[in-house]
Amino acid sequence: MAPILAVAACGPAPDEASGGDWPDRSPRVEIVEELRADLSRPRAESDGGGTASVEEISGPAVAGRPGTWRIVYRAGPLGVAVGGAVYLQVSPFWGWSTPQTEREAALGYTTIATDAGGVDLSAETLDQQLLAIHVRGRALEEGELIEITYGAGPAGALADRYAERDSRFWVAVDGDGDGVRELISESPAVDVLPGPASRLLLHLPSTARPGESVDLVAALVDAAGNGWPEFRGTLELRLPAGVAVADGRDRPGGDGATRKVVSLALAEEDRGRLVVPLRLAAELGGVVRVVGRADGGSAGAGFEAESTPLLVSPAGRRILWADLQNHSGLSDGSATPDDLLRYAREIAALDAAAVTDHDHWGMRFMDRDPAIWRRTLDAVDRLHDPGRFVALAGYEWTNWVEGHRHVVFFEPTAEAAAGLLLSSIDESHDEAHELWAGLDGVRALTFAHHSAGDPIPTDWSREPPPGLEPVTEIVSVHGSSESADSPGVVVRGAVEGNYVRDALDRGYRLGFVGSSDGHDGHPGLGRLASPSGGVAAILADDATREGIYEALRARRTYATNGPRIVVRASYAGWPIGADIPAAAAAAGEVGPIAGVPEGTLVVRAVAPAEIARIDVISRQSATGAGAIAGEALCPERERECSLTVTLPAFRSGGYLYLRVVQTDGGAAWTSPFFFE
Ligand SMILES: [Zn+2]
Ligand SMILES: [Zn+2]
Repeated sequence: MAPILAVAACGPAPDEASGGDWPDRSPRVEIVEELRADLSRPRAESDGGGTASVEEISGPAVAGRPGTWRIVYRAGPLGVAVGGAVYLQVSPFWGWSTPQTEREAALGYTTIATDAGGVDLSAETLDQQLLAIHVRGRALEEGELIEITYGAGPAGALADRYAERDSRFWVAVDGDGDGVRELISESPAVDVLPGPASRLLLHLPSTARPGESVDLVAALVDAAGNGWPEFRGTLELRLPAGVAVADGRDRPGGDGATRKVVSLALAEEDRGRLVVPLRLAAELGGVVRVVGRADGGSAGAGFEAESTPLLVSPAGRRILWADLQNHSGLSDGSATPDDLLRYAREIAALDAAAVTDHDHWGMRFMDRDPAIWRRTLDAVDRLHDPGRFVALAGYEWTNWVEGHRHVVFFEPTAEAAAGLLLSSIDESHDEAHELWAGLDGVRALTFAHHSAGDPIPTDWSREPPPGLEPVTEIVSVHGSSESADSPGVVVRGAVEGNYVRDALDRGYRLGFVGSSDGHDGHPGLGRLASPSGGVAAILADDATREGIYEALRARRTYATNGPRIVVRASYAGWPIGADIPAAAAAAGEVGPIAGVPEGTLVVRAVAPAEIARIDVISRQSATGAGAIAGEALCPERERECSLTVTLPAFRSGGYLYLRVVQTDGGAAWTSPFFFE
């Protein structure tokens, strides 16, 4: 069925020359032509024949560590003809050594053997992680074996740097020797375990009311961000005044009468992870940060961390954290959909996450095999826990002409999306307006992403329909598509005039979200393994599909490139993302909160790291271009900042948004306020 595509559609890109303009870089029609040509290539009956198994010679695979694996291929009823070949495609996602038969001392050295006398095998490395084994001498007959020992030399072969279950050794067969190969029906797989703990993460929710209880999620991860490492020891937490462990295990600490210290056991079965319920005092207000230390006892290692900040206030909407774009091992990412969602909830402490594999990219194509799409839908139904964790089904419409968009479904059951995987390779849905027409009446949203640059920029010539595409993914592991003056701007292929700000200047009303666009199995924590990540702050009181859908449609969102920055902002009393009547504004009327005068921007930011500045970006009316307005706010390099600013009146077509930039490059972008 699928050709072997060793390159991720929107994962970490191979090195490429940067720069270039339309139409040199885009649209990438040749990719579509190649995918379609492959689909129409005839397959011989013997292509994809046979079975394979794997044996772990050196014990269980550990992320990023060398090992040795033996893959045994057994020919099917039609065998493999002279001139045919068996292909070993070690998972191209992410970091497995490329199998090679030339250098015994080097990583990935592979030996080939067969029990079939008279069959002459020769192997060659064709591409990253791809080895071809050509059959010569005589045909390989049914039941005859090829034994492939991968990592046979002293260096072994490196396993995937990301831990996951079901990491596959893909086996494909060209049975008749015409150069067209096909995957065997079930390629063997191994589980890749996390490496040793190397970092402690402490996540608190970003908002709570005085007197509430909140969960602190403490999780150790390995050097690549993989969760659930082996660990045994203690977790010591230092709690600020007004915060107590809900079950009363805390005691007064040594650093002042108001602080308390609690020491908790991390047992082997905790796999480095604890949820600690905390009680907030009824009179508590302001910012809470908890400091913690995990100690592994005799193992020697100790890991310190400070929690994400929690803003305790009786006012303001709740902030939910979501990662709405993630690729699992079903396309070109890592982890099973279930494990991806578990990581989102249990390690990254997200409130919502979507699984969005490519429609037509990776080792097998979801749009050609409903069973693959079914695995996403089933996982989402299993992990969805309304009120506590929102699991969402989606896919990536991987369009190489108009740009990629991921589609996320908000129907009450994932099942409702079963017939709605509208493929970017299908001629009836290969243009954005056809996708949107196909989703008309469906509770689904589309998100343009990496819109300014590689792997393909968005064609902004068509205005996205506000009902289906109210927000855009402004930042991810690919960097920021906001503007050329953005922190962490997209590194490759940025197209001048194609940034999100340029789309706003066309008059489009788009709110902002960030997503990791992760391929490492670590939703919400893309920044652990990349310079940039992406996460969406959604201002909604209910952690339900309905609550999140409504907030996205109202653009009540902001984006960050990873850090859980708390941003509160309003303009004349209107919330982030609002359409503000310019006529009312001009007449000096006030927004929905009485008593807040026109022109008044109220901002409060609470960040994990020092805030370098807050930029106000605005356009006063329907003409001209948005730009940074006036002086940067909050230049004092503190972690918290509150202020009230008076701005000149906006006319119809104007917009205004905020950019909070930390000294470490972390940033948040609020959805714009739009004036009409
Ligand atoms: Zn993409
Ligand atoms: Zn993607």
